[in-house]
Amino acid sequence: MKHPQFSHKKSLGQNFLINPEVPRRSLAAGELCESDVVLEIGPGQGALTRLLLDSPCQFIHAIEIDRRLEPWLTELENSSNGRLRIVWGDVLVQDLNALEPLPNKVLANIPYNITTDLIWKLLIELAPRSLELLVLLVQKEAAERLRAQPRTRQRYPLGVTIEQMGTLKTVMKVSPGSFSPPPKVWSEVISLAIEQKRTLACAQQWRALLAASFSHRRKKLSTNLLSLGYDRADLEQLFTEIGISSQIRAEELTAAQWHELYARLFPAAQPDNQ
Ligand code: SAM
Repeated sequence: MKHPQFSHKKSLGQNFLINPEVPRRSLAAGELCESDVVLEIGPGQGALTRLLLDSPCQFIHAIEIDRRLEPWLTELENSSNGRLRIVWGDVLVQDLNALEPLPNKVLANIPYNITTDLIWKLLIELAPRSLELLVLLVQKEAAERLRAQPRTRQRYPLGVTIEQMGTLKTVMKVSPGSFSPPPKVWSEVISLAIEQKRTLACAQQWRALLAASFSHRRKKLSTNLLSLGYDRADLEQLFTEIGISSQIRAEELTAAQWHELYARLFPAAQPDNQ
């Protein structure tokens, strides 16, 4: 079928893949087998979706906001023998828990402007029940923030949460010329294996702790935590007990220190370790 002319919308992050190596390596990182149910976000004209259909995976949900892509995606859906379902709409307002069957892997070249909100949503809604692996093409700067180490300015709540829940790896760096139209920035395919603390991202206390801790980045962590109703002397006592300097700022805490701080502040809210 001949497809109509398509004018890309920058506001929807519509940079479509033209370098076949990128979806090929993303797919390889997904290590798909017959029992896998995949969620793709933003299938666009189907560069990755076609490879997913050729893989052994059981089922693919693909959520796409732009109905102008119907000529490409409906064709794929109709020839998929019932293995592909296109969900039309904004991924950020979908109830991902209502997807049937529930996805255990997410493979996607995501719109860069929703990266942080989207990854939080995936962790909150899917990690407790089914999510095992995310393979995402993101802007290089977003990848750097997600893996930012303690004592760097890029460290932020989502990166701290990911570090607690699993292992983040770089699959490949991706040049602007791999897309049409080419974005101004470099990109990166990352993989995140969810290995433990599956309910952490949806724990209100964890998110409140991070939000308060990073609310004023230049202030001391103990000062920021006063907004949660703690007494300064009690906090300083706790910091001493767990070996954290009273002068420390949120971005300086290591993964082990976040674990310890959360366990001591909210002993009743500890996530399962599956
Ligand atoms: N997967 C295709 C590829 O790699 O060539 C397209 C990727 S493009 C970077 C991002 C896609 O996400 C576009 O198709 C865009 O329409 C879609 N999109 C943007 N915002 C979205 C949203 N909030 N919910 C669902 N899809 C969205």
